[in-house]
Amino acid sequence: MSLSSSSSPSMPAAAEPQLKRVVVCGGGVIGICTAFFLAKKAAASVSITVVEKSSVACAASGKAGGFLALDWCDGGPLSELARTSFNLHRSLSAELDGPTAYGYRPLRTLSLSLSASTSPSSTRKPAHIIPDWVDGPVRNASTIGTVETTAQVHPQLFTRTLMAEAKAKHGVEVVTGEVERVEVEGGRATAVVLKEEGGRPAVLPADAVVLALGPWSCRLVVISSLFRVSGLKAHSIVLKPRNPDAITPDALFLNYHPSHGGKALDPEVYPRPTGEVYLCGMSKDAKVPDDPEQIEGDEESIRMLHKIAGEVSSHLGEGEVEVRAEQACFLPCTDDGRPVIGEMPDIKGCYVATGHSCWGILNGPATGAAMAELVLDGQASTLDLSPFSPARFLSGSRRRQHA
Ligand SMILES: Cc1cc2nc3c(=O)[nH]c(=O)nc-3n(C[C@H](O)[C@H](O)[C@H](O)COP(=O)(O)OP(=O)(O)OC[C@H]3O[C@@H](n4cnc5c(N)ncnc54)[C@H](O)[C@@H]3O)c2cc1C
Repeated sequence: MSLSSSSSPSMPAAAEPQLKRVVVCGGGVIGICTAFFLAKKAAASVSITVVEKSSVACAASGKAGGFLALDWCDGGPLSELARTSFNLHRSLSAELDGPTAYGYRPLRTLSLSLSASTSPSSTRKPAHIIPDWVDGPVRNASTIGTVETTAQVHPQLFTRTLMAEAKAKHGVEVVTGEVERVEVEGGRATAVVLKEEGGRPAVLPADAVVLALGPWSCRLVVISSLFRVSGLKAHSIVLKPRNPDAITPDALFLNYHPSHGGKALDPEVYPRPTGEVYLCGMSKDAKVPDDPEQIEGDEESIRMLHKIAGEVSSHLGEGEVEVRAEQACFLPCTDDGRPVIGEMPDIKGCYVATGHSCWGILNGPATGAAMAELVLDGQASTLDLSPFSPARFLSGSRRRQHA
């Protein structure tokens, strides 16, 4: 029997190094929620730094709809994550969202069919649930969310409010730079190496690293050597109607049938407390550019969103609105459709949180809270992270070793 066995009572396991520096890579909703909850939970002796290539919430986290649903993920692996996060959004809004901070509000949500070829008068049943501003040729209306089960935030303002709070109250710092790789020594993450630019120090020493790089996750070899995150491009427009008071807080999930008989589309419409109306849809596979600032919407997709806006409501047609944004961004998607949240197998202190697909704004708070517990306490108590473990991508025999 070997005397060096780590299970020997006379030989205590080597103590974990004391956590002093945590570096969170990526300033989207997932990275910022993680930094926020880390900062709230950590002792003052732990320094927390966010590294962001461009600006906080410059990508999907700033251009998303911001729709939140309590129970739409029920029955699947995201159920506990989504329910926990929906409730965290409510408590965060009580803590942080003043009258104008980031526009959290409960919403009613309707499902509607919109068909350019049908006359409005024959189709407005049941009329009592359709708000007056939805005066286009809609039918098959049903309520799919109530003010108890659906809500919204302005995603960019939400993410930036959390960052501002983490900075003001807890001293979290944002470094602008591009993460190139994670330095690993003796099976442990020791630093984040940045692309050298303008004489700035290129290495940030770290006791723990959290990788929250959205659809750019696989640019880092530590991630791409284990699993894939692809980007699905989606488009959106933001309109300011001339008469914003006419628009009630009702989110619309549309099934749209174009008049020329093309493929049915599923655009979404979110009125915002700012008086703006956000529409999104038109997703397609496309290459994710290196620079998040270079992501542009395709003309045809943007044109279609304007057409749908004008057909669903006369308040949103050309001449009735000021166009505030025409944009696109990428959903971060994993091959099994589940986010990846956990410590990387074989690299102590290297954590990943990505692949939130179309629910990153909803699931940001619970992801951040659970990740903060995992990093600081060694395990998450907010929710069970095992369905999201990166170890699920290991090949069979290695997965069994990690179980
Ligand atoms: C059109 C659209 C509508 C959506 N609507 C909703 C919705 O209503 N509700 C909902 O819950 N979700 C919605 N989503 C999904 C949600 O936006 C995403 O799941 C979420 O924003 C992903 O956040 P993230 O932090 O993982 O990634 P991102 O927001 O992409 O952030 C990643 C960040 O990492 C930075 N970065 C990348 N590489 C590097 C590097 N090497 N070094 C440093 N920084 C780097 C990027 O600049 C970026 O800021 C929507 C998405 C789209 C596209």
